[in-house]
Amino acid sequence: MDDFMKEEYNDLFTTTQCPAQQELLDYVQGRLSPEKQHEVELHLADCELCSEAVEGLAAFRQKEQIPGMLKQMKKQVLRKLRTRKRRKDQVAYFTQLAIIALVILFILLAAFWTYHFMTHK
Ligand SMILES: [Zn+2]
Repeated sequence: MDDFMKEEYNDLFTTTQCPAQQELLDYVQGRLSPEKQHEVELHLADCELCSEAVEGLAAFRQKEQIPGMLKQMKKQVLRKLRTRKRRKDQVAYFTQLAIIALVILFILLAAFWTYHFMTHK
């Protein structure tokens, strides 16, 4: 693991406002107090990382397997989010290219018509 990866890895559970891993686990297993349960639900509503992780967790209820998997899943979600952003950048890039190509085409066409009318009258 290089430094960048280590940093990203730690960020998953420290710098975000996400509930502790154990809390998400208890939530999935229905062992939280009603207030805590509500708190986590509120967080899930606006945290894509946690809501996807919990969604995945719901399928695997064996406690022993979950802790490692939760980190794994969050990493996958992060990667997915990043890919989505990269794709958006690419779309913007191609849109710019298309606009430039259209402008060039228009100028060529205008030049052609100007030339055509000047020489054929
Ligand atoms: Zn979260």
